[in-house]
Amino acid sequence: KDRNPGESEFLQATWEVFDSLQPVFEQHPEYVEEGILERISEPERFITFRVTWEDDNGNVHVNRGYRVQFNSTLGPFKGGLRFHPSLTGSVVKFLGFEQIFKNALTGLPIGGGKGGSDFDPKGKSDREIMRFCQSFMTELSRHIGPDIDVPAGDIGVGKREIGYLFGQYKRLRNAFEAGVFTGKNPDNGGSLIRKEATGYGTVYFVEEMLKEQGLSFAGSNVIVSGSGNVSIYAMEKATEFGAKVIACSDSEGYIYDPDGIDVETVKQLKEVERKRIYHYLEHHPNARFGNDKSEIWTIPCDIALPCATQNEIGRESAEALVDNGLKALGEGANMPCNDEAVRVLTHNQVLFAPAKAANAGGVAVSAMEMSQNSMRYSWTAEEVDAKLHQVMKTIYKNCMETAGKYGSPGNLIVGANIAGFKKVADAMLDHGLS
Ligand code: NDP
Repeated sequence: KDRNPGESEFLQATWEVFDSLQPVFEQHPEYVEEGILERISEPERFITFRVTWEDDNGNVHVNRGYRVQFNSTLGPFKGGLRFHPSLTGSVVKFLGFEQIFKNALTGLPIGGGKGGSDFDPKGKSDREIMRFCQSFMTELSRHIGPDIDVPAGDIGVGKREIGYLFGQYKRLRNAFEAGVFTGKNPDNGGSLIRKEATGYGTVYFVEEMLKEQGLSFAGSNVIVSGSGNVSIYAMEKATEFGAKVIACSDSEGYIYDPDGIDVETVKQLKEVERKRIYHYLEHHPNARFGNDKSEIWTIPCDIALPCATQNEIGRESAEALVDNGLKALGEGANMPCNDEAVRVLTHNQVLFAPAKAANAGGVAVSAMEMSQNSMRYSWTAEEVDAKLHQVMKTIYKNCMETAGKYGSPGNLIVGANIAGFKKVADAMLDHGLS
């Protein structure tokens, strides 16, 4: 707390991990003796920089850019870039810290990092987005590289932004280093299924968790918050698995469709037209709109997949979900449930899939994109999807086995935290003090 004053999100994320690790320290005093906790919670490097850009009317704007290179024990720093006005140093650090363990859980050779800017892409023209991305990359390019640090997308950063960022990196380096970025357009060095991977992966993970209890997506009512990259593909896969997705949202409200959300309409509105979610009603008059987005959690459902942003479910929303008979919750977003909400859900026997495990599919396919770039070869969509499905099953099994081994059978939060931590901590011991 004293070292990171005012960094509430970062402190929340570190506390949540450290709280689970007590049984590990009892069995492995060497982690304490070698200062692993102090070292793992201090970024290797934290860069902030000025991003100056000009809008279409010739006005000058200044934003702040960030990159936290948190831990490179297992491989190059790896984690997305977020463009959102709410981005702060604390949020970047919480995301980067979580990323270390998530990446370790994938079993692939990637370290943890994260970055972005407090720039708001909403309402900006394509040219403004391009100028911002070029200015941002002019500084970031000094710090990244295919074997150093490999960014990707996150909130507000999709295929378009990655195209502009990569284009500027290529100009500055005078080299085509495809492996410096993941989430690229598949026509242009990207991996098939990367766009779908986080949402699909979350559903694959939750399906494993449900299966163990004799449950399934088939025949269940599902609520998915957000209507961005993760949400859209979580809705798509849940629907494919036989569920009925009845509600989704954006930052201005939620829609409820008793007939089941038509994912193609959401894709058209959000991915193509970049419109607000309430326009869905123009295509589906049976649906209704509510402008209080947290109200989405008061709609009865069997499975909840929060896929929008951090701390979107607090105690009251969790209680409403429990009262309405919620059976399972899978975190598609990073830290969407605050501490109190997690306590309410788990004390009421709701099956709980934590973000670091449940949403690791995106970064897993990013690592597969790096492999394909190195080989200068592309796998088919079916090949990538099959590998993603296998990775999610393996993460689930690993978390369950670890939870059992450390005295918390069935607790995936404990399992994910310990399994991710141990993999990184053991490698840090191998590498000596640094
Ligand atoms: P996007 O920007 O594509 O989508 C975010 C969506 O959430 C948008 O529809 C946005 O609405 C909505 N939203 C934002 N705040 C709220 C809120 N308070 N209530 C309801 N809706 C809200 O981002 P992603 O889908 O990429 O990321 C979503 C989450 O998943 C983040 O936590 C991210 O860190 C995490 N994640 C993403 C990965 C990826 O591969 N993309 C990988 C792993 C985790 P609006 O359009 O109005 O802003």
